[in-house]
Formats: sequence, structure tokens, C-alpha cells
Amino acid sequence: MKIILLGPPGAGKGTQAKSISEKYCIPHISTGDIFRKNISEKTSLGVKAKEYMDKGLLVPDELTIDLVKDRLSKEDCKNGFLLDGFPRTVKQAEALDLFLKSNDEVIDTALLIEVPRELILERMTGRRVCQLCGASYHVKFNPPKNEGICDKCQSNLVQRKDDNEKTVKDRLDVYDNQTQPLIEYYKSRNVLSTVDGTLAIDKVFEDISSILGER
Ligand code: ADP
Ligand code: ADP
Ligand code: ZN
Repeated sequence: MKIILLGPPGAGKGTQAKSISEKYCIPHISTGDIFRKNISEKTSLGVKAKEYMDKGLLVPDELTIDLVKDRLSKEDCKNGFLLDGFPRTVKQAEALDLFLKSNDEVIDTALLIEVPRELILERMTGRRVCQLCGASYHVKFNPPKNEGICDKCQSNLVQRKDDNEKTVKDRLDVYDNQTQPLIEYYKSRNVLSTVDGTLAIDKVFEDISSILGER
């Protein structure tokens, strides 16, 4: 099962990805999480990526595509994977298709989580993420059992530096200009499915499960 998650920042991709990955036993690959790990470890990739991420801009395709190809070549991706936050440009999507094609593979489903722009700012500014496992919470919509602590691994929750009003607006513009075209890209390949991301987290997951099928 090879799945891509599409949708604007704050749509709930990361939140749903954790549940999909558990239910279908496929690795959750978030390019944002990989970049953030590199930033905290101060690798050369991290230093380069930080410049763009802090401004809400996309990290250049060359850096991102190589990173994903590397990750998809690992043993745990043999039976499928769930990509969250990649591809984000048509160039990335084409590179992914080409890479899969070389192994006679294709993307099975591109899942679009739809949320209107008006709802996004509140989601993003109230988001808190686990420093260790990347789990996503919300101070109002999905609070952890103990304030500031991850339910899953007990690590500290933090607010991402790019989850402020100004950067979120810039990220939404970047989404409209560079990522939105992917909806048409996957629609024309007959693999696009859409869910209503304004529903409650559990309900969105039910809808996703009925698209992906029970296991
Ligand atoms: P993305 O990975 O698409 O940027 P996240 O999964 O991190 O989005 O979710 C963004 C924020 O919105 C988080 O604070 C999360 O807890 C919250 N959230 C996710 N899904 C829902 C939902 N269905 N309803 C309300 N809030 C949600
Ligand atoms: P969100 O969950 O809010 O959509 P991500 O964690 O996916 O955010 O991404 C955070 C930042 O990491 C992006 O604003 C961008 O700078 C960088 N990034 C993540 N994935 C990609 C990608 N596929 N291509 C380019 N930049 C990326
Ligand atoms: Zn955690």
C-alpha cells in the first residue's frame, strides 16, 4: 500500500498519518519531521533546510527528492509507505513517479484532506507537537491528557517556530501556488480520494479507513 497525504498545512495530515500507519502497518514518512530532526542534530542538511523552513518557504527540490529516495529505499518500505508532506511540487511528484516506476510500482492512493483556509490559522497557532515522536496535539481541539506532555511517549510538547500567524500565511500561499496543482496531477492519474477534514479527528479517520479498506 503506497499512500500520499495531500492537504494544506494544518489539514490534519500528521494526526491522521499516525493512525493510518498503525492500522495498516506501513511506515509514516514525514519530510517535515526528517528536516526538523536534522535541524536539531545540526547536520549540514538541517542547516540548509532551516533557512527555508523558518520563512515558510519550501526546501529546494534537489535536497528533498534525494532525501525521500534514500528513505524509500530502506527495507521497511518494501510493503508500502505513507508519505506525509511529500510531494509538495509537481517536480517532486514526477521524481517520485519515476523512482517508483523503476521498480514497476505506482502510488495507490493520494488522499486529500480538505480544510478551508478560514479554519487553518486557529489550528496552527494552537498546535503543540511532541519533540520526540512528532505527535501533534491542539490546545483546544485535541489536548493531551497532561498539559505539555505527550500521551504516547511522555516527552515535552513544544510550539513549532513556524506556527506563527505570519509564517502560516506565507505557507498557505506557498501551498496554493506550488502544492495545489498536485490535486489535478493525481486526479488525472485516477488515484485521488478526498475526505472532509473539518470533521472530528475520529470521523476523518473513519472516512479514510473506508477509502483504504478494512484490514
Ligand atoms: P498537518 O500535518 O496537516 O499540518 P496536523 O495533523 O499537525 O496537520 O494538525 C494541525 C493542528 O490541527 C493540530 O493542532 C491538530 O491537533 C489539529 N487537528 C488535526 N485534525 C483536526 C480535526 N479534524 N479537527 C480539529 N483539529 C484538528
Ligand atoms: P505542515 O505539517 O504544517 O504541513 P511540515 O512539517 O510538513 O508542515 O513542513 C514544514 C516545513 O518543512 C515546510 O514549510 C517546508 O519548509 C519544509 N518541507 C517539508 N516537506 C517538504 C517538501 N516535500 N518539499 C519542500 N519543503 C518541505
Ligand atoms: Zn511523543
